[in-house]
Amino acid sequence: MEPLEAELDRARDLDVAELADAIESIGFECTRCGGCCTGYAPDEPGGAPADEDESEVDSKADGDRAGTDREPHTATVFPDEVREVADAAEDAFGEAYDWRDVARPMPYGLVEGEDGDPAGETFEWALATDDCGDCTFYEESDGRGACTVHDSRPLICRTYPFSVALGGTSQPMGEAVDGEGMVRAHECEGLGRDIAREDAESLAAALKERAIRELEEAIAVRDGYDPTAAERADGDVVVFDSEGAKNADGTPIGGG
Ligand code: SF4
Repeated sequence: MEPLEAELDRARDLDVAELADAIESIGFECTRCGGCCTGYAPDEPGGAPADEDESEVDSKADGDRAGTDREPHTATVFPDEVREVADAAEDAFGEAYDWRDVARPMPYGLVEGEDGDPAGETFEWALATDDCGDCTFYEESDGRGACTVHDSRPLICRTYPFSVALGGTSQPMGEAVDGEGMVRAHECEGLGRDIAREDAESLAAALKERAIRELEEAIAVRDGYDPTAAERADGDVVVFDSEGAKNADGTPIGGG
């Protein structure tokens, strides 16, 4: 059996109660620090703020993070999630959101083209970011963060800072700082806090759903890869997601 298919079987067999036990044991409460929604310093794979001292917190409260040495927030968003977030943003802000307002081509694998813009092939999409490298849907006031599309936020956001170790090759969130059973916990100041059983169970259910979705997407991307798509693309970037080859604005690239 192919490794991804074997991992998918393991994901479908995950026991939500066991995952909830592990989450309860590790502990978690969101402090609304914004660490998982904002850009981050290069040595902080979890996405924590670039500088934790008071002056940085103050400058964050002022919405002034530009100019610090930060990498843009990079979180995978699947194609159906892009459309769902666009609908939620349209409801929230009363204006139309198109694909590019929600998602950008995943930067990994892209190179700088002759005109200085990104070029090449990549896989999947990342949430769009603002000039500070923060998720475009992140808002902050008085040092407390909020997601403007909270009820429709992607699975990766609903489940941070946890992931599931299925024993395969997929490591979407980098190194873990804690673990219990198959659950891994990643950099987050909310770890170690008490969590209600009900909240642990809903987080565990979302974690299982995400593990399954990530593998279903990876399999579809693998099976739908078309090395000739670049010849028919509108621009220099081709994005492969589970629905096929797309231009950087999310429009499909037709068959050859
Ligand atoms: S969609 Fe919402 S939860 Fe996800 S990174 Fe953006 S602001 Fe944060």
